[in-house]
Amino acid sequence: MFYEEKCTLCGECLMKCPYLAYPEEKAKAEFKKLIEGKPTPVTAECITCAACNMFCPEGANPFDLINERQEETGTFKVTDQSLGMMSMASQLPSEVKKGKPGKPAITLCTVGDFLPGVIEGQLFDGLTVIKGGDYFCKIGWIHVGKPSEVKKGIKAFVDDLAKTGAKEIICFHDDCYAMLTTKAKEFGVKLPFKPIHIIEYLRDYVKANKNKVKKLNMKIAYQQPCASRYTFQKDKMLDELFKLIGVERVKREYDKMGALCCGGTMAAMVNVPKEKIEEWRMKNLMDAKKHGAEAMVFLCPLCVLSLRSRAKAQELEPYILSNLVRLALGEELTQGGAGKKF
Ligand code: SF4
Ligand code: SF4
Repeated sequence: MFYEEKCTLCGECLMKCPYLAYPEEKAKAEFKKLIEGKPTPVTAECITCAACNMFCPEGANPFDLINERQEETGTFKVTDQSLGMMSMASQLPSEVKKGKPGKPAITLCTVGDFLPGVIEGQLFDGLTVIKGGDYFCKIGWIHVGKPSEVKKGIKAFVDDLAKTGAKEIICFHDDCYAMLTTKAKEFGVKLPFKPIHIIEYLRDYVKANKNKVKKLNMKIAYQQPCASRYTFQKDKMLDELFKLIGVERVKREYDKMGALCCGGTMAAMVNVPKEKIEEWRMKNLMDAKKHGAEAMVFLCPLCVLSLRSRAKAQELEPYILSNLVRLALGEELTQGGAGKKF
């Protein structure tokens, strides 16, 4: 939600945006137009990475306003294929696979088992697994310029998860956690269960099983998903987890505040040429290499699909975070680190 009363029209959001990078006066003027509901190129050019919600020094959530204007004006153009995929996600077959009594549940949303071999091993042993269209978190609608679908869908999403009877639900997908924490609060939807981020679950598992961990002594670059802009407070837990498994997260330009989109949101837009998307992806990967990373670690399965082969081609071994933890626990990754054997 955009908080107009907090906005000082400083322009920081559009100046710091890596994709727009407006000069100060233009940034101030265009943001004013957004507030006033006047036409501005921002609505067509913004790639919906949500980063400016973190850039705003006042906590006004500028992206939420941009996204609303994108929907109102229809100036944000996405491919029919991306729109179709969003609609299809809710229609996917749903399943609740009961686990062992006393163990929490994990929701995979519609993307958790996109990658073969990922939901395997001791980390997932005995958990109740929830997945499919009924449990699609819908926050992805922001990336096709339709945030009203997020508001429309949140109650049903929470109700469907509640119907499983689980009291604690681990969110494998970062988007689900953003929806259940930030968005639920924003729209006044109460949760009858506790959402636990996968990073918190992994950290606590490793802490409780320290004797099983063999430190990896690896330098990695982290690909932060866009949804993490809504719940950045958990980043400290991620650093704790990396330390526990002996992984150094290289300090680089395109991480944390400076993180870049994996290219997935841009690929959905009709006005971003393929070469431009590749340029951004290469900047990201080269930044990782330049800072000494030997592997690229992902949290979001969609970021994996977008970047794993490109990372591998640059000699950055791709891993989804849970697989990196499995490696530290001495498990064999039968399908590679990121669901593909190269
Ligand atoms: S959401 Fe991302 S692309 Fe859009 S204005 Fe904000 S920082 Fe720029
Ligand atoms: S939304 Fe935030 S960063 Fe953007 S102009 Fe307003 S106060 Fe400045």
